[in-house]
Amino acid sequence: MDVRQAGNAHGIADHVRAVRERMAQAAVRARRSPHAVRLIAATKTVPAEIIEAVIAAGIHECGESRVQEALPKLQALGHFDVAWHFIGRLQRRKVKSVVGRFQLIHSVDSLELAQEIERRAAEIGVTQRVLVEVNIGAEASKGGFLRHEFFGALETLDELPHLSVCGVMTIPPRTEDPEGARAYFQALRELARDASRRSYRRIGLDELSMGMSDDFEIAIEEGATMVRIGTAIFGERPKEQV
Ligand SMILES: *Cc1c(COP(=O)(O)O)cnc(C)c1O
Repeated sequence: MDVRQAGNAHGIADHVRAVRERMAQAAVRARRSPHAVRLIAATKTVPAEIIEAVIAAGIHECGESRVQEALPKLQALGHFDVAWHFIGRLQRRKVKSVVGRFQLIHSVDSLELAQEIERRAAEIGVTQRVLVEVNIGAEASKGGFLRHEFFGALETLDELPHLSVCGVMTIPPRTEDPEGARAYFQALRELARDASRRSYRRIGLDELSMGMSDDFEIAIEEGATMVRIGTAIFGERPKEQV
């Protein structure tokens, strides 16, 4: 199935329902409330008309990965009650277009990026909510803070008055079996828990953004508060793009 086939509203509503059901079951297995996990539809490559279908199916949060692609969609769908998340790698020169438009930026992967967000947020007089991206598998191909950099980074982030750090995000290494992601999700949860025992003035670490189509149930069992799901709702993207 590809995005075009998934374009019929019935198909989408069925997929959303199936994903919610699987999310609820995973929460119950972990003795968590199903309400403790938010579903964010990952809408990269998905055209605005199809996003309308997921909104009609009860989705209230969408995550976009590319600034250029996202802005026209935010504009086209501006009259819907949707909270937009920025989940992709964010270049510093694009920060200007993102701050204040997205409810949450999941992918703060360097102090330079954080400082740029701070500068822009101060300029337009907003507080930008963000997550700190952790490169939990220490992969050269991925962005994010390494575990040993994390605590030091939080100390700096704590000093940025127009940033509100709410938690952490990760994309674990690809493994053959989704079970392989479990240890990484646990590691992220433990890292956030260790950090939350330190005394920061403003930082909060309640949100854990982890889990995608292949592994969201495991992420929920390990404490995810937000899962970002594309393929399981919209079908395969034209070609694999992250
Ligand atoms: C595309 C994307 C997702 C969704 O991935 P699927 O495997 O299609 O569910 C989640 N998070 C990020 C950061 C993404 O870029």
